Amino acid sequence: MPSPTVVHDLDQAYLTIMQSRAQGTKWGLVPTMGALHDGHLSLVQAARETCDAVAVTIFVNPTQFGPGEDLDRYPRTWEADLAALEQHQVDLVFAPTIESMYPPGCTTRVRPSDVAADLEGRFRPDHFEGVATIVLKLFQVLPAEHAFFGQKDYQQCLVVRDMVRDLNLPIHLSFRPTVREADGLALSSRNRYLSDVDRQRALGLSRALAAAAARAHQGERDPQRLEALATQVLEDAGVDRIDYVALRDADTLVPLKELADRAVMLIAAHVGATRLIDNRVISVVASEAASQG
Ligand code: AMP
Repeated sequence: MPSPTVVHDLDQAYLTIMQSRAQGTKWGLVPTMGALHDGHLSLVQAARETCDAVAVTIFVNPTQFGPGEDLDRYPRTWEADLAALEQHQVDLVFAPTIESMYPPGCTTRVRPSDVAADLEGRFRPDHFEGVATIVLKLFQVLPAEHAFFGQKDYQQCLVVRDMVRDLNLPIHLSFRPTVREADGLALSSRNRYLSDVDRQRALGLSRALAAAAARAHQGERDPQRLEALATQVLEDAGVDRIDYVALRDADTLVPLKELADRAVMLIAAHVGATRLIDNRVISVVASEAASQG
């Protein structure tokens, strides 16, 4: 199996994509922070199916971490990542240094749309500014036709969607369903922080979402009651601290007076020293609600 071309240099990455595009190759881009798992690889798979060639970026982006967050201890598993990407026939891996992405004086930032203000934006104030900035920079350095993101980071998908729309970026986006363990735990690079006991408690997030979806399916339309139910399930599971449990409009993330056609429940909670997020789209039209990932 051919190894992916590993590129650290920005100009080389740009030229590789541009020269290949000139010959008609359609590129798919999968931005990641490494510590790859099957969630990331599902995006690679989707890119493979949609595009002629796939570029994966591995960059732990410092501007999206706040003071006191886990930037320094974020897992880095370069060898295993590269092996997985080779297995998945990735063509190019872009792994820049922090200094090359943010040289001295690089202080321009993207201000994300209003969709970034609440939820993660409230608990991680500069997070989405950092995300939007690095995603735009990656789109510039690797000018692919198509980029792939996971709905696991639901609010992030909407931030990127709005940035592409508002800044007229010439790229097509796909948002892919969350990949979960058999017991429901959403795959996350941060799951490797969890002890066995914590991992059990972490199941509270997906269980809370499933309970709310089931109750909505039974006819409950009151967002507060659905949020209260999910909160109860989280507390029963023994999570240490809940940042938010919120049922919102699935497109705008504005609070709802009543459960509408397409809503999303989003949760952030701490288990031990690990902060976890999860979400679930709850559709009350037709019978899809219970099966959404
Ligand atoms: P990260 O490395 O955490 O920045 O994630 C890189 C990309 O993988 C983002 O688009 C994430 O939303 C996506 N991703 C992370 N976890 C999952 C998952 N469990 N299922 C699907 N996509 C995921």
